[in-house]
Amino acid sequence: MAYCQIIVDISHEDVDHLFTYRIPPKLHIEPGMRVRVPFGHIKHMEGIVINVMETCDLTDARIRDVEETLEDYPIILPNLLKLSFYIRDHVFCTMTQALRLMYPAEMRAERVHSKQVEIIALSVSEAEAEQRAALLARAPKRLAILTALLGTEKKRMESSELKEKIGDFRPSLKPLLEDGTVTILKEEVFRKPYTSIDEALAPDLELTPTQGAVLSRINAAMDLSGNDFLLYGVTGSGKTEVFIHAIRHAIRAGKTAIVLVPEISLTPQMVTWFRSRFGDLAAVLHSRLSSGERYDEWRRIRRGEVKVVIGARSAIFAPLQNIGIIIVDEEHEQSYQSEKTPQYDAREIAEQRCHDEGAVLLLASATPSMRSFARSQRGDLTLLEMPERVNHRPLPEVSIVDMRRELSNGNRSVFSASLYNALSQCIANGKQAILFVNRRGYSSFISCRQCGTVIMCDHCDVSMTYHAAENLLRCHYCGAEKPVPETCPSCGSRHIKYFGVGTQRVEEEMHRFFPAVRTLRMDNDTTREKDAHALLLARFRKGEAQVLIGTQMIAKGLDFPNVTLVGIVAADAMLNLPDFRSSERTFQLLTQVSGRAGRSSYPGLVFLQTYSPEHYAIQAASRQDYRSFYEEEMQHRRRQLFPPYTVIIRNLYDAKDDEEAKQAAESGLEQMEAYFSRAAYMKKYVTLLRVMPAPIRRINERMRWQLILKIVDQPQTADAVRKMSDIALCMNDKVRCVCQINPSNLG
Ligand code: ADP
Ligand code: ZN
Ligand code: ZN
Repeated sequence: MAYCQIIVDISHEDVDHLFTYRIPPKLHIEPGMRVRVPFGHIKHMEGIVINVMETCDLTDARIRDVEETLEDYPIILPNLLKLSFYIRDHVFCTMTQALRLMYPAEMRAERVHSKQVEIIALSVSEAEAEQRAALLARAPKRLAILTALLGTEKKRMESSELKEKIGDFRPSLKPLLEDGTVTILKEEVFRKPYTSIDEALAPDLELTPTQGAVLSRINAAMDLSGNDFLLYGVTGSGKTEVFIHAIRHAIRAGKTAIVLVPEISLTPQMVTWFRSRFGDLAAVLHSRLSSGERYDEWRRIRRGEVKVVIGARSAIFAPLQNIGIIIVDEEHEQSYQSEKTPQYDAREIAEQRCHDEGAVLLLASATPSMRSFARSQRGDLTLLEMPERVNHRPLPEVSIVDMRRELSNGNRSVFSASLYNALSQCIANGKQAILFVNRRGYSSFISCRQCGTVIMCDHCDVSMTYHAAENLLRCHYCGAEKPVPETCPSCGSRHIKYFGVGTQRVEEEMHRFFPAVRTLRMDNDTTREKDAHALLLARFRKGEAQVLIGTQMIAKGLDFPNVTLVGIVAADAMLNLPDFRSSERTFQLLTQVSGRAGRSSYPGLVFLQTYSPEHYAIQAASRQDYRSFYEEEMQHRRRQLFPPYTVIIRNLYDAKDDEEAKQAAESGLEQMEAYFSRAAYMKKYVTLLRVMPAPIRRINERMRWQLILKIVDQPQTADAVRKMSDIALCMNDKVRCVCQINPSNLG
């Protein structure tokens, strides 16, 4: 007899353990396979096999049979099964939640199926078919079928194509099937995303000496048993080309690679790059694929047809075997941290996966995160550097513009005099410009100039945001909408207006000052549709517009040779966010945006408009000076005991009733205090432990409280984090709680 232990597909603490079933002799079962079993009163329950055993301690009468297998192969490979356990233990979730990361959500409850086509194929030799065709003069339809098939290279044709060619052929097919001249086959087809991309393979570039030196370090590590690298390369230093060569090295050695890119918006350009170099050996996984496309790409990978997987965060779980290298591009990006449960950090998972599988980890950025750079200084990561742009192209020349002075000079437009002049020049030269508007942290609320009233959401304690396209107000937390008031609801004044600069405002001013210049706008409103993002970029690349106006989406990774000017409309918008990383974010964003200028043989100019020109983040960004920013920022972090010196853990409680939320938070506090009195050696590391109302007190009619723990980062800290997360897990129906680690948005 054989038995197996499975985890059922229910994410609940109470059933988060192994259940034993008997394997009927007719079934072949391996760990990682998906099965259907009876479970309690539920007749058909999905589950994943974790172990297979010869014997079992339980009495046979209590054990039930596995009903069937859902696929005839393990959908979770042994390496990913192992990773699931790691995730359960380190990201604090149930085993089911960890396992669900490993295969497309659509496969559960069988919401997608493979797409099949019907093919009519000759089943006799060509000569034989020709002989038989010669006898069919009085059966023109049958003759037409054979002639059509004989005319193809592989002597077969999809039935839809055949029908298009010769009309309805079904009745005449029957005799041909009966006498064995043809057969009907069902074949799987793969839905391929990005078919619009020109797939002619492009040659690899010859590396510069700096690129070559970095590559040889990476390749040497790949030939041994891996290593963890941080590649710090300024914008335009040619990191992508290094990735491509390193992946080639992996493929030549029979290995595979994963490339993580920050977010969906970056994918189209990257995908073009990679598909033009690796063709069908590359697969794309990201959230904008249709479920069919995602499922098909996943299966191509699972079957070993794919050598390189490119994708956003969740691509780290791609079912590749024999991994040689995992690359995390723009490693400083926040989007690698999942905000949904399980709240994994793709960078940490990548590191774990590399260690498990003996692969190279390559974190790369022009503006490494404080955490990664600090780790490289400690020697936890090996630092690789590319301090110059490819072919000695200069870094862009950045000018800081003090907007306070513009105002006192009577200039109320969004363009400073110097940016305006540079724009006129750039346009006159027939070059392209990018205008960057930082939406994050920018208030585009509506307020009364008479009494100062701000229009707030009725359900949340936040101001509503003005959306010019629809001319309405929307709450970014709960989605509630309101028309724009004509008069102030408190004092009746008609001087009610919206403040803040958005992309639309910049576009309007462009048209006012430069009526003949064509512009493209890229923001959430203009990129809702699938592929809209890629299409807009392609239009800009083709020169359909001279000026691209956009938000964060245009900040990273884009490479437009004709862009010689970048204008940053308001550089300091996010310096004042209630986030300990706001300086780091500002520096990263400004450096990345500036890096879009002057990437080909034309030199680049950048104008950085700000109300805080002396701030060190802005100063350092204007010089693209990562190291001096790093030094200064680390001093701030040390003084204020912020990460990477500490870890901040926040349990965020919410309930309809304010008192209940508060009590839940206070009970959490008591449990933590009890925990620290048991683990006294840890207590000295705690720098903050208290309950307070959340900065946004109410969202969607629910009141919010928080329990915050700030603790020095040292080996035992993980235990305290686990304790906080355990507390967050045991909540009742009335009070909800999420545990966040180093949350960026302390709203
Ligand atoms: P990064 O990602 O480091 O900002 P990219 O990888 O986008 O830089 O490269 C910047 C530009 O340099 C791109 O246009 C790329 O095609 C070009 N480039 C990279 N490597 C080479 C090389 N070895 N020879 C010539 N051009 C290169
Ligand atoms: Zn008013
Ligand atoms: Zn709201």
